[in-house]
Amino acid sequence: MSSRIENYLGFPMGISGAELTQRAIIQAEKFEASLTAPCTVVSLGSCAGHLVVRLSDGSEVAGRAVIAATGASYRRLEASRLSDFEGNGVYYAATDMEAGICGPSPVVVVGGGNSAGQAAIFLRQGGCRVTLVIRGDDLGKDMSRYLVERIEADSQITVRARTTVVALDGHETLGAVRLNGPDGNVDLPCAGLFSFIGAEPSSGWLNGCAALDDQGFVLTDLSLTAEQLGQSWQTLARSPLPFETSHPGLFAVGDVRSGSTKRVAAAVGEGSSSVRSVHQFLAFSSRPNG
Ligand SMILES: Cc1cc2nc3c(=O)[nH]c(=O)nc-3n(C[C@H](O)[C@H](O)[C@H](O)COP(=O)(O)OP(=O)(O)OC[C@H]3O[C@@H](n4cnc5c(N)ncnc54)[C@H](O)[C@@H]3O)c2cc1C
Repeated sequence: MSSRIENYLGFPMGISGAELTQRAIIQAEKFEASLTAPCTVVSLGSCAGHLVVRLSDGSEVAGRAVIAATGASYRRLEASRLSDFEGNGVYYAATDMEAGICGPSPVVVVGGGNSAGQAAIFLRQGGCRVTLVIRGDDLGKDMSRYLVERIEADSQITVRARTTVVALDGHETLGAVRLNGPDGNVDLPCAGLFSFIGAEPSSGWLNGCAALDDQGFVLTDLSLTAEQLGQSWQTLARSPLPFETSHPGLFAVGDVRSGSTKRVAAAVGEGSSSVRSVHQFLAFSSRPNG
């Protein structure tokens, strides 16, 4: 969903999330990984010592080990008529496609994190006049300094602090948004509302198989308490491996993992490191009482 990832090693000119994914697919196929897409995992279970992943088409895939890398999905704004314009003026990504739809019209970006900052700059570069709406009063609280500096230096980006989006308006497409801030309600013309207000972990499919933190992110290795590990681990006579969840053989990496750094480089690194843990797990479980 990222329009331009500028901090991933090896891409000095930046790369969009979509292009990085396309390249990853080619690379995975080169190593003969079997890919199935589009395809949603609906639940996880276990059977005869294997974890069983159930897919939305009803098929099942069994494995001795599973790595969960399902990331997180976006929170929705609580504003009236939001659903009327989703995909038709309300967007959760700012790529060339959305920028093309909005053209040079005014747009509103909501959120105080790096994703919102990147989107504001990207849309501005495409010729839009951008209003950046943040709930708090300090743009630098959750956003990287380099983005804050670029936003503050740009006269075509207006930052509205202590402000929320309360309503959307338009006929067939989004035409205006109502903001509520220190000066009360303000109506702004708006061709695109870009929402970057945080994410919910995509962990529901784990179906209670793994312990989660209070926000639903998956707990792994040192974050797990003895209580969360339960009795089954006592018979295993080992601690969870790096990235292993409370379910032996189930690993979690990237954004879906509790405490992970929500960045591409971190997710890629965790994914590759977890493979070492999978090998260790397979070695443990091939022992006579493993
Ligand atoms: C707009 C935006 C801009 C960003 N910019 C940057 C940046 O500049 N630099 C940076 O380092 N990071 C950036 N990030 C963060 C970065 O994208 C994430 O940290 C990274 O992609 C996490 O990788 P992941 O593999 O854990 O999850 P994701 O990349 O989210 O991948 C998870 C995948 O799992 C799929 N999935 C989810 N549930 C299921 C299911 N039940 N069945 C099947 N598939 C499922 C999803 O569709 C998705 O394809 C940005 C994020 C956003 C949203």
